[in-house]
Amino acid sequence: MKIYINGKFFEKDDAKISVFDHGVLYGDGIFEGIRAYNGRIFRLEDHLQRLAESANAILLKLPITIKEIEKAIIETVRLNGLKDAYIRLVVTRGVGDLGLDMRKCKGGATLFIIADRIELYPEEFYEKGLTVITSTIRQKGLDQVTPGVKSLNYLANILARAEATAAGAQEAILLNASGHVSECSGDNLFYAKNGKIFTPPTSAGILVGVTRNVVMELCEKKLGTKVIERNFPRYDLYGADEVFLTGTGAEVIAAVKIDGRIIGKGVAGPTTKTLIKHFRDYANSSGTPVYEAVKAK
Ligand SMILES: *Cc1c(COP(=O)(O)O)cnc(C)c1O
Repeated sequence: MKIYINGKFFEKDDAKISVFDHGVLYGDGIFEGIRAYNGRIFRLEDHLQRLAESANAILLKLPITIKEIEKAIIETVRLNGLKDAYIRLVVTRGVGDLGLDMRKCKGGATLFIIADRIELYPEEFYEKGLTVITSTIRQKGLDQVTPGVKSLNYLANILARAEATAAGAQEAILLNASGHVSECSGDNLFYAKNGKIFTPPTSAGILVGVTRNVVMELCEKKLGTKVIERNFPRYDLYGADEVFLTGTGAEVIAAVKIDGRIIGKGVAGPTTKTLIKHFRDYANSSGTPVYEAVKAK
């Protein structure tokens, strides 16, 4: 495996960053999880735009331009010979001293890229659906580091996921301070009821997922239904016809049991299954080419 760190490639065992990197000392940094399907990187521009916005929001100067980051991502996938891949792009504040002052990170940000094979949920979960719980951990408020920044501060999400695991569930829902549903520990959430599809708005405190946006487009174009963004309590999920989650790793996947309540028929419903199909068709037939791009040079 070849891992990119600040312009150079390293073997897995040699791919290391400093213990003085503020990404390690403070979780001071941002990341993206990106996928490649069939030798093409899915929605790369969207991920790069979110990265740029996250960097701007945390006063982080990217060490190279977005165009150069794009090239580095393509090169990392290519060097690893992957057609289907999960790509992890991380930008940390860089090497500083033991204090909080970001000005001490004089060498600038650390940027690394890992491209690996992906397997998240076994295929049977796409039929049977996931078991989900509501976490006791609340989504961070919009007046804190906004949930819209894909930051390395992931502890709340990790602890929420641990609660799910302890309860025998695969995912955890985070409510926001007002008790409305925001999202899951690493996925956005939708529900379908009486032919309509709903999802929490950005003001509920969500990470605006690339997959969420694609699914909203697919609902409009392929199902002829515009997704309604509204605030709702978890009670509305219990009575939904279908609940499904979206994210780069999971794609589109049903949640069929929430806090012990069976949702709909207790398996992936027709809307979810149709969306899974449309999503996969689209993901497998679009994206930034990894291999042709090199030939074209
Ligand atoms: C990354 C992420 C998502 C999903 O975003 P995608 O761009 O669709 O992968 C949802 N919630 C959180 C907290 C995330 O970090």
